[in-house]
Amino acid sequence: MLPNFAYIRARTKQEALNNLGSEGAHVHAGGTDILGCARAEVFEVEKIVSISRLEELRGITRSSDGSLRIGALTTISEIAQSPLVQESYPGLAQAAGDVASPQLRNQGTLGGNLCQRPRCWYFRGDFHCAKKGGDLCYAVEGENRYHAILGGDPCYIVHPSDTAPMLVALGAEIHISGAAGSRSMPLQDFFVLPDQDLSRENLLEPGEIVTEVLLPGASGIKSSYRKIRERGAWDFALVSVALAVRMNGSTIAEARLVLGGVAPVPWRAEAAERALIGKQPSPSVAADAAAAAVAGAQPLEQNAYKVLLAKGAILESLLAL
Ligand SMILES: Cc1cc2nc3c(=O)[nH]c(=O)nc-3n(C[C@H](O)[C@H](O)[C@H](O)COP(=O)(O)OP(=O)(O)OC[C@H]3O[C@@H](n4cnc5c(N)ncnc54)[C@H](O)[C@@H]3O)c2cc1C
Repeated sequence: MLPNFAYIRARTKQEALNNLGSEGAHVHAGGTDILGCARAEVFEVEKIVSISRLEELRGITRSSDGSLRIGALTTISEIAQSPLVQESYPGLAQAAGDVASPQLRNQGTLGGNLCQRPRCWYFRGDFHCAKKGGDLCYAVEGENRYHAILGGDPCYIVHPSDTAPMLVALGAEIHISGAAGSRSMPLQDFFVLPDQDLSRENLLEPGEIVTEVLLPGASGIKSSYRKIRERGAWDFALVSVALAVRMNGSTIAEARLVLGGVAPVPWRAEAAERALIGKQPSPSVAADAAAAAVAGAQPLEQNAYKVLLAKGAILESLLAL
């Protein structure tokens, strides 16, 4: 059952920010994640502030310099179906199209996709785990087949978003507004590992909202997103591979390879990128990069399969290039 909470439907960004300052206040965008969290009492909910009327946070627009602005309230379906995204950032259209089900993509927004809470069954369940202020990450000794193989210690959640790894690979910047003003940062720096701060997954401060994501121009960039899941649809990634590459003739001039489903943050595989840059794509270069990407993996008892899955998915992504 949902707990009792105050519900505010803000008419302006300022009204939303004014209402978000207090303890237990949360943003409601599409509501596909926050209401489940409230029902499961994952965190305290005193007030829900809907931002769905803020038209300024919607839409996809291209600037004259070739960059693309995607408002935080843009739905996942709108991103997947946007001709601008499909034409210049096909990996992002693919990632958005791979999120959940058509109904959830119609309702869920980009801001919510980036800020959704982890799906770990101990975190979402009735367990006072380390992330909720307890002493233990129950995944270490417990059921851990869906948990992290990279960057986990001391909490083995995986980041659930499909769009985040692809946006990081494309060099996106995130824009945030709060009572103290606005700020922006590379999306890669937005996400926080558990050993930096166990209680949260990103740098959003209480009372702040994500307003938009900016993508640099994609001239000459090839991008792809490959998601491996247990079921054919409506499932989170066991492993995903976001790849953005710029070729110079037959040589790889730039490469960004980001893994989803394997770490508490979208995991940038920089060793794999180094193994690609300056090389001509070939099966052996791809195999070296795939091996480098998972070289530091520390699987738990039930999730060593993710190491092989990640290697295979990276190999497939690179060979498709
Ligand atoms: C059955 C199911 C399957 C799913 N499968 C997938 C999947 O395969 N891949 C995937 O990536 N996701 C999946 N999701 C997760 C999620 O629901 C969607 O990704 C959706 O995009 C979330 O957007 P929303 O607008 O509904 O978020 P909300 O539920 O409104 O918000 C989610 C969180 O983000 C915060 N938030 C939302 N917008 C902002 C903002 N602008 N600024 C600051 N904070 C904000 C909220 O406070 C809340 O904590 C799934 C969800 C369900 C229920």
